Amino acid sequence: MRVDIFTLFPDIVDAYLGVSLMGKARGEGLLDLRVHDLRSHAAGVHRMVDDAPYGGGAGMVLMPEPVFACVEAAQPQRPLLGLGPAGRTFDQRLARDLASGDGFSLLCGRYEGFDTRITDHLVDDEVSIGDYVLAGGEAAAFVVVEAVARLVPGVLGNAASPDEESFAEGLLEYPQYTRPPEFRGWAVPEILRSGDHGKVAEWRRAQALARTVARRPELIEVRGGLTESERALLERWGLGV
Ligand code: SAM
Repeated sequence: MRVDIFTLFPDIVDAYLGVSLMGKARGEGLLDLRVHDLRSHAAGVHRMVDDAPYGGGAGMVLMPEPVFACVEAAQPQRPLLGLGPAGRTFDQRLARDLASGDGFSLLCGRYEGFDTRITDHLVDDEVSIGDYVLAGGEAAAFVVVEAVARLVPGVLGNAASPDEESFAEGLLEYPQYTRPPEFRGWAVPEILRSGDHGKVAEWRRAQALARTVARRPELIEVRGGLTESERALLERWGLGV
C-alpha cells in the first residue's frame, strides 16, 4: 500500500510513522510511505506557504501555488484526502474502504487551513477525525494511517485480530482479561477459564452486545436494532434489556 503525506512538518511525520507497527510495516515493504514537504515548491528565499485571509480575520491561510505545485510534482496515490474539521468523519468503515485499495494520500493543513481552491480543485475528499479543532493535520494523519494500515493483510502479526475488534461488526469489543486470575479481589469471569470455547464465544458475543447497547446505542440502531436471537442471548446471560 502506498501512502503519500503532504505536510509542513515532514520530520515529525517520519519520526512517528517510523517506529512500532508502522515502522515495521515500512521496513517489511508492506507500507510504502512517502512524506512530502509542502515548502519544497514554495517560491522565494523565505519559501512562504501562507498568507493573510481575504476579507480580513485572524491567522494565515495556506496558499494554492505551493500546495498545488508540491502535489502535482509528487503525483500521489489517489484518493487525495484533505484533512480538516469540515470533512466527513473518519470511521472504521472508511478505514476498511481505504485498506481495500492500493493506497491513498493525505494533505495536512496548519494555521487557519487551506485556501478553498485547494479543497475544491485539488483534493478528492475532505476528512475530519472528530468534532474538535487541532493545530495541524499531522496528528489526524497518524490516526488515519494507523487505522488503515493495521487492516492491511500482514501488518498485524495475528491476521484474524482486526475481525474481532470494536466496530468490526458494528459492535464494541467484549471485555478482555489476562493474568492474574484475581487482582485485588477482582476475579476474571469463571467462564473465560472454563476451557469451553463455545461458551466463551457466546459470552463474548453477549458482552459485546450489552456493552454496545449501554455505551453506544446508536450503533445498535444503525444495525436495525437487536434481533430476536440477540435478545434471547442477552437474556440467557442475564444481560437482558
Ligand atoms: N480554520 C479551520 C476551521 O475552523 O475549520 C481550522 C484549521 S486548524 C487550526 C489547522 C489544520 O489542522 C487544518 O487545516 C487541518 O489540516 C487540521 N485539523 C484540525 N482539526 C482537524 C480535525 N478535526 N480533523 C482533521 N484535521 C484537522
